[in-house]
Amino acid sequence: MDRFHVSQWNYRAEGNANIVLAYQGNDPLYKLGTLLRLKKDDGGEIASHDPVAFQKDIIGPLLGPDYLIPLRRVAVTPAFLQDMAHAIAPHRPHHRHHRGIDHRARFGLLTQDLTYRSILTCELKPKWGFKPTSKQIVPEHARIKSTICRFCMHHFLKHKTLSDYCPLDIYSLDRCRMTRALRAIQQDDHNDKFKVLHNQSSVSPAQAALEILSHDACLLPRLAELQTRLDTLDVEGIWPLYKRCPVDDIHDTQTWQSVVERFLTAEVRDDPVQRILEYVLSMTFKDCSILMSLYAYDPDLPFVELDGTRYAYAIKVIDTDMKKVSKIPLWYGLDQRIVQNALQYALRRECDAEKKYNVVA
Ligand SMILES: [Zn+2]
Repeated sequence: MDRFHVSQWNYRAEGNANIVLAYQGNDPLYKLGTLLRLKKDDGGEIASHDPVAFQKDIIGPLLGPDYLIPLRRVAVTPAFLQDMAHAIAPHRPHHRHHRGIDHRARFGLLTQDLTYRSILTCELKPKWGFKPTSKQIVPEHARIKSTICRFCMHHFLKHKTLSDYCPLDIYSLDRCRMTRALRAIQQDDHNDKFKVLHNQSSVSPAQAALEILSHDACLLPRLAELQTRLDTLDVEGIWPLYKRCPVDDIHDTQTWQSVVERFLTAEVRDDPVQRILEYVLSMTFKDCSILMSLYAYDPDLPFVELDGTRYAYAIKVIDTDMKKVSKIPLWYGLDQRIVQNALQYALRRECDAEKKYNVVA
């Protein structure tokens, strides 16, 4: 049986940009947990960059390659995409229907299914882990931006209410604050930031996430550091630079590679193009997700202990796609709406990034 036949794949999940299918055929090469990621039609031009190279050569050196699940490009036919779009339609959530598989795509991406043989798998989208301190922020916005984090203000704009979940509690690595945040996120009616993808145990997903994130102890600080250091000007500082010196969307990996090299060696800090592209990279790290899985204990793998039982675990970062430079005007507009709304309602909260904590080794 052809691997790329509609009968060989099941609908698994989708986000804004991609639809994910799980292999269910008998090919031994694919059988051990393989996912196929297909691009959704966003009405824009067909992507001309190489997502495999972007992940390996741009995201890898910044985040650490061990956190990434390798991607592989495979050719797909228009007929397969059309058949698949038809077959998965009944399984797709209603609010996602306005955007389907991009039939013009000639490639899909194969990746490993972390839920395969897992006892539990959950996904956390932690969002922004810092409050901006840029001097470019206009004085009227400086105070509110330094007290309430971007996630909390954005949540308030969208839902007219504050969430008990604040990402800075997760990033704090303080067990007490993390526990509170994970509990709050699950109880939030608007929660789409913490999902349980698979659970064959009595273990609490929030407890598993807490133990894995605490035990790893490197990923969250690294994400927050990348977000902060790639975005030192704030979008209020990026916007005037972009207006003065508009940059086209970057499709070639070499340009991004040189941005990363200059960033890592802290060269040419006053080059506006470099600052703009660093900001665009920061947006990827503000929007990525953390996948965490528990497996049966294996002495060769890192483990956590839950309710007296040892489990091997994996922690990976997904959704690390390239963002478009041409979105800067949108990002700036959204930022201004978020802040104006918070000011208009005299929103009060102290999102505490500074509080000291005991790092769990
Ligand atoms: Zn907050």
